[in-house]
Amino acid sequence: AAGFGDLRAYIRDIPDYPRPGIVFRDITPLLLDPGALSAAVARIAAFASARDVQFVVAAEARGFILGGALARELGAGFVPARKPGKLPARTVSAEYILEYGVDALEMHADALAHGANVLVHDDLLATGGTARALCDLVEQLGGHVVGCAFLAELSFLGGRERLAPFDVHALVDYP
Ligand code: 5GP
Repeated sequence: AAGFGDLRAYIRDIPDYPRPGIVFRDITPLLLDPGALSAAVARIAAFASARDVQFVVAAEARGFILGGALARELGAGFVPARKPGKLPARTVSAEYILEYGVDALEMHADALAHGANVLVHDDLLATGGTARALCDLVEQLGGHVVGCAFLAELSFLGGRERLAPFDVHALVDYP
């Protein structure tokens, strides 16, 4: 994985998606390339490897793609956080603010052992609302967030500050 180069080269810009004026950072070229995909998983795992991660918690839907691979790489379990109504057993819920309105994520109430060490993961950190909700869910269940790891970060939006005091790591930054 080392020496594979800057993974930025595998993330493409899609102008005016999902709305005019927004540049969407599309990670699907990275997913297509076996070497880049492997390097991404290995580099995120390297950030987390000294933290005794027991569970990876990731957000529907793009967070699931690397989340499972990361859990496997770290020898951890995987916990899906989903949009309301999707999980079959009893859930806990955390709301977060969108540009227009409020959304929520849910996790199974019995997903985490109390005191478990958790790595929070999503593909991309923007304003931090989604990842903050993931951290809130972990804490509701008595879990311990040992870090938040992303493929990419839009640092000009200040998501990292919103996640303080948790430790944030992203492989590629768009300042
Ligand atoms: P936040 O909650 O931090 O504002 O937004 C992050 C969430 O929105 C993540 O779940 C991420 O998948 C999605 N997202 C927002 N902008 C982008 C983008 O430019 N590229 C990708 N891949 N995801 C984005």
